[in-house]
Amino acid sequence: MTTATLFNYSYSPESAPTSGPAPAGLRSVVIVGGGTAGWMTALILARALIPRGVAITLLESPSVPTIGVGEGSTPWLRGFFDSLGIEESEWMPSCHATYKCGITFDGWSTKPGFASYFHPFASMLDNLTMKQFVHNVEARVNGANVEAHPNRFFIATRLAEQRRAPKARESFPFDVWHGYHFDAVLLGQFLHKKALARGVRYQSCHVTHATLTPEGAIEAVHTREGERIAADLFVDCSGFAGLLIDKALHTPFVSFAENLFNDAAVALPTPMEARIPCETVSTALKNGWAWKIPLTNRFGNGYVYSSQFCSGDEAERELRAHLGLLDADVAARHLKMRIGRVSEHWNKNCLAVGLSQGFIEPLEATALLFIQQAATIFVEYLERGDLGEAAHKSYNERMNGHFEGIRDYIVTHYKTNTRKDTEYWRANATNMRLSDDLKKLLGLWMAGQSISQPVGQQLLGKGYPVFSWYAIMAGMGIFPDAKDLRAPTTREARFSLAEIDNLLERSAANYPEHGAALGHIEPRRTEPSLQIYFW
Ligand SMILES: Cc1cc2nc3c(=O)[nH]c(=O)nc-3n(C[C@H](O)[C@H](O)[C@H](O)COP(=O)(O)OP(=O)(O)OC[C@H]3O[C@@H](n4cnc5c(N)ncnc54)[C@H](O)[C@@H]3O)c2cc1C
Repeated sequence: MTTATLFNYSYSPESAPTSGPAPAGLRSVVIVGGGTAGWMTALILARALIPRGVAITLLESPSVPTIGVGEGSTPWLRGFFDSLGIEESEWMPSCHATYKCGITFDGWSTKPGFASYFHPFASMLDNLTMKQFVHNVEARVNGANVEAHPNRFFIATRLAEQRRAPKARESFPFDVWHGYHFDAVLLGQFLHKKALARGVRYQSCHVTHATLTPEGAIEAVHTREGERIAADLFVDCSGFAGLLIDKALHTPFVSFAENLFNDAAVALPTPMEARIPCETVSTALKNGWAWKIPLTNRFGNGYVYSSQFCSGDEAERELRAHLGLLDADVAARHLKMRIGRVSEHWNKNCLAVGLSQGFIEPLEATALLFIQQAATIFVEYLERGDLGEAAHKSYNERMNGHFEGIRDYIVTHYKTNTRKDTEYWRANATNMRLSDDLKKLLGLWMAGQSISQPVGQQLLGKGYPVFSWYAIMAGMGIFPDAKDLRAPTTREARFSLAEIDNLLERSAANYPEHGAALGHIEPRRTEPSLQIYFW
């Protein structure tokens, strides 16, 4: 059976018609918060609403800084810029941005041969090796001694290893879908300028509280500067403060603390190396994991940990030791994280976007994707003029499902760890607070049954494509122990690793050195769509 999965991470500029009137009763929007969420939302809403005469105003406190982290993305961010007609050649240099081919996970598994694996972003070339990867993984789960480490099968892995940019020469038309790394503060400033140029109004003021209508919707926000600002729709982009969705509307919060233990982080920059990498590295430490994100001018580093298992000082010391910075005079930033989601992202006339709506820890750098989806899906409802109760319900169900799908994938990193060195890792491995979907998926895997169909049909493992699930399970070495493997049958051993190596090596030669490519970013040539087939 052939399952075709279409990846089209892009919202084309034509996909959101801007003709026709604005939805009845929608003349003004106020966005509270000017972090990445506020400006991304402003731009997405501006495109749909400003041509229809709706005024959009963004309010930002002069005294509350943005969170200042969040420097890695998924490939979806490319769709965000494409949909706004903003070229890489314009925004990337302004934000010290680099290309991202995926994430290396170091030290999450202690299984021999699986100390490290790469979670690649998809590529059209994967059509040529995906079948072999899935075949070998399924054979190995069933006890055959065949090569099934994901690093052997994907072009993005080669590009990351060789520090090549995912931008092939024109004569080699195989698109590698890629994410980015960028300076979060500079990205905010870039988006701010763009939004103003597209008609969004900006006001620097500190919101103190909101007043409600008799029906419980938000009537106006009030500022420390003494203003009362009314609007038809309010967007809460105030970060973890949740000024509107939480403080004003008291929307219940669904914590993921029992699934995901990490609730704090400490961050430190380090200097860039001579050759700029094109991957994030995520290294398991004693009570969490450390990110290493390359920008053109520095690395961003941070340690995401659980405060139940270690203090901020201990985490900072361990991160400094990990980075070789024990004696260095570099200031660290400590952050708290609230992990979970609100029960209603769209509550009355308030939409929550960004950290105010919820956060899943940054292991797969998915937060900007949530922002993009929250705003873009909301525009779908606006386009239909559909703002009633049923629309609220269906929007909230979609967002909640999305949060839960991504959560399950993140939980899998912890559940499948085999480290025994600290209580933190042991507690993660024995944690049985898993969703029913995830339990079923892990059960199928352990029973040697294929997961490609239920994941491909989005019955299980929602939120990530099939190859990501195979990459994580195989990358963590969730196979029978080496001593229990048997010689493969002829059918099981039918794919030649040498041929795959050869194909990937020859293909990789068509991609330029990453640093050189960053010096010559060109406007995009091809349409942003990517088709990948699984068997
Ligand atoms: C440790 C860590 C690592 C992360 N890594 C990643 C990553 O790699 N990839 C990724 O996609 N995401 C990551 N994230 C998440 C990412 O940082 C956020 O999703 C993103 O920056 C959006 O934040 P925000 O705009 O919602 O909130 P913030 O950046 O906190 O912005 C809040 C805004 O609200 C304003 N505000 C607050 N109070 C008031 C008030 N009273 N009146 C008016 N304005 C007010 C502030 O001035 C500010 O402008 C990470 C998060 C953390 C904690």
